[in-house]
Amino acid sequence: MKISVIGCGYLGAVHAASMAELGHDVVGIDVDRPKIEALSQARAPFFEPGFEELLARTLATGRLRFSTDFADAAGAAVHFVCVGTPQRRGEYAADMRYVQGAVESLLDILATGELVVGKSTVPVGTAARLAELIGDKVPGALLAWNPEFLREGFAVEDTLHPDRLVYGLPSCPDGDTARKLLDEVYAPIVERGTPKVESDYATAEMVKTAANSFLATKISFINAMAELCEATGADVKLLADAIGYDDRIGRKFLNAGLGFGGGCLPKDIRAFMARAGELGADQALTFLREVDNINMRRRIRMVELAREVCDGSLLGKRVAVLGAAFKPDSDDIRDSPALNVAAQLQLQGAVVRVTDPAAVENSRRLWPQLDYADTAEEAADRADAVLVLTEWKDYRQLDPVAFGKIVKQKRVLDGRNALDRDAWTAAGWTYRALGRRAG
Ligand code: NAD
Repeated sequence: MKISVIGCGYLGAVHAASMAELGHDVVGIDVDRPKIEALSQARAPFFEPGFEELLARTLATGRLRFSTDFADAAGAAVHFVCVGTPQRRGEYAADMRYVQGAVESLLDILATGELVVGKSTVPVGTAARLAELIGDKVPGALLAWNPEFLREGFAVEDTLHPDRLVYGLPSCPDGDTARKLLDEVYAPIVERGTPKVESDYATAEMVKTAANSFLATKISFINAMAELCEATGADVKLLADAIGYDDRIGRKFLNAGLGFGGGCLPKDIRAFMARAGELGADQALTFLREVDNINMRRRIRMVELAREVCDGSLLGKRVAVLGAAFKPDSDDIRDSPALNVAAQLQLQGAVVRVTDPAAVENSRRLWPQLDYADTAEEAADRADAVLVLTEWKDYRQLDPVAFGKIVKQKRVLDGRNALDRDAWTAAGWTYRALGRRAG
């Protein structure tokens, strides 16, 4: 099947290569020329485990190519829209100009019988509006909404082996046509019995924002408990273990720490609140404002904790920040809590050195005012405090004895509750973590 993928960022590039892996003939289109050049030469423009191998393998089959020219998408049976929907500057709402632009460009080459499939995360109501636009301009062309649930760090696995497929379909008979095309695209995934939910457009759009809101709420719930633990002397890690044994609750997404960031959860819950407001249903989502507040408070608390361990002042203190990406196994620094904390520490007079196994280059571009080191050892050289803010395996596995010889003061702040507290304290470190007593 001939497929086009519009927008080749974290989502689109992985989707394009994965569709080629499933056997389709795929063209990935993006307006970013350097990105298209890199992808065409089998160079991943971002860090994602397993992606570069998949890219090289699928390019070599001849079934995958990349272009900046929308004309190359002509004749595809299915066109996936994977462009960004960032937060609008100064507002909570999503910036829809990229989705709008991509669909308008598609209209020039779209033909009757072809299917446009939205994968971007959009405000509910977008698909109905775009379906009307497409139907007016290209009669007989259809639209479906097929939200994406991949996690950065597991993007390839999640795309090829999703938990579920969600199809937001037009009403019948167009709905049947769209479903058949999507089933053909995802044939190997459908055939292995992957759960599939078919719905109207609005439900499909909301599945994505509701799922992200739930995940954000779960993280902020345990972080609110961490605040209480700090006030009571209780231990949030033990608390999470104990409540997580309850199947109805589950242990996943109950890790207290610096909270969520990245290019999805923060902007998605805010766009969801903005959309609810537009629909006159803002009361339904007021709790998300508190979820957001709890999340942002963790960053402030982390800076306070750093000041506390540095004897009440950060002025002139050397602080090593281990981690810049918003999560491990990614180079994505969009709304990264780690960089946010690093910048605040610097503002308070600390001499901050940031390191990350994959995200230093991106960080340098976006936060040139910070200093960077290539390794954890270099960052921690003569440090007064070490902050672990992204739980990369490299940092979880640091040897506290050897690491203790590099620093000036053995003070570690575990921003992700990811270190072995006993091992660090046994090696003579002052260990502090959000929601846990000093060790
Ligand atoms: P991204 O910023 O990495 O990629 C977006 C790409 O779209 C960029 O390469 C940009 O150049 C391109 N683009 C913009 N306008 C274009 C146009 N008119 N034509 C062609 N290309 C255009 O963003 P992302 O992380 O890949 O996210 C894309 C969408 O997927 C968002 O709505 C996001 O919420 C959603 N999503 C992302 C993830 C994730 O983990 N990153 C997971 C699920 C859903």
